[in-house]
Amino acid sequence: MTFILTTADVPKPPTASEEAQDLPPEVMRQLCAHLDVLEAHTCREMRVAVELLMDTGRRPDEICRLAYDCLTRDRQGKPVLAYDNFKEQRIRRELPIHEPTAALIRAQQERVRGRYPDRDLRKLVLLPAVVMNPCGDKSIGSNHLSNMHREWVEGLPEIRLDDGTVFDTEKIFPYAYRHSFAQRHADAGVGIDVLAGLLDHDSFESTRAYYKVKEVRLRQAVDKVTTLQFDRHGRRIWGAVTSLLAAERTRKAIGTVVVPFGTCSEPSNVAAGGGHCPLRFRCVGCDHFSTDVSYLPELRAYLDDLLRNRERLRSMPEADAWAVAEAAPSDEEINRIRRLIRRITEEVDKLTDAERQQIQQAAATVRKTLQGFLGIPRIHQPLPDLRPERPA
Ligand code: SF4
Repeated sequence: MTFILTTADVPKPPTASEEAQDLPPEVMRQLCAHLDVLEAHTCREMRVAVELLMDTGRRPDEICRLAYDCLTRDRQGKPVLAYDNFKEQRIRRELPIHEPTAALIRAQQERVRGRYPDRDLRKLVLLPAVVMNPCGDKSIGSNHLSNMHREWVEGLPEIRLDDGTVFDTEKIFPYAYRHSFAQRHADAGVGIDVLAGLLDHDSFESTRAYYKVKEVRLRQAVDKVTTLQFDRHGRRIWGAVTSLLAAERTRKAIGTVVVPFGTCSEPSNVAAGGGHCPLRFRCVGCDHFSTDVSYLPELRAYLDDLLRNRERLRSMPEADAWAVAEAAPSDEEINRIRRLIRRITEEVDKLTDAERQQIQQAAATVRKTLQGFLGIPRIHQPLPDLRPERPA
């Protein structure tokens, strides 16, 4: 018996795992703002390739080699990108995309049709190489894309993070857009099963790398908000902040002592997973309670609730006086919550603008995780719009 072995039959060697290489949203926004520079220095195809990398999270090779007819519609009429996953040797994969991405593809198709008016459309590619390509069937190469992309990035003005530090442009390369795509979805609460499908991963192992990134971010965020931690009197907890951090991380991670607007260290309540408070959650009157800046919205909402309840009870003539007195929130509790909010706000006001911004971002990250801990159904966060100027 004879057989032929071609290169396509040889499995690809294992590649390095997809580690944390995503680009922060503010970096992505600055890059998007300079896409016209990329087009001016290279060609339209390079720009479209980079936009598609950003929008779809596909690998560079998958984008460069897209077929002309890569845009289809699902049964609901929503746009779908058809691409080949060369790494896993799976062809004609489908990825749901947004209308602005579909519009980008349609415009590029028109451009290709104009350039090759007499060619069979089924033989054309979406991103034809500019030179030595008389038939329109040769795509731009991913190495060329990578080189042009590097030149573009190096020619841009300094890219800065929200805290003012300069971002290392070495970290901006085509594959980083895939990580950014995954991270945007992971941060928005997309489950690992859905994310694995979006990335066309065979197993959850590769996808889990993105969730590890999430944990690292949470740990960094917790470290930050822990530096603005308060006891029930609104006194800042300074002591041994560094040694507190490890325990604090673990506490946040397992969520066993989270109470409505802070954390509880009362042993029996901790043992009962936070649902067995002997004081009926009068936390501002309890030494086991502490809070931090990430709970400010909950504290404010709780104060509003107390004030609303007090007003409602005052206008309930049908209730006995003793019942109203027992149900009404005490002035003491209201005053303590007010004082706590004031103290936290004063401390936040002492920070510089950059520090305040960092704390707000960290608090937002911690709050997303707390939603799960508090038993509040996890809601998907909207994906950040990197290019709000594009029509939806
Ligand atoms: S009142 Fe005290 S024991 Fe009860 S949940 Fe709040 S901090 Fe824990």
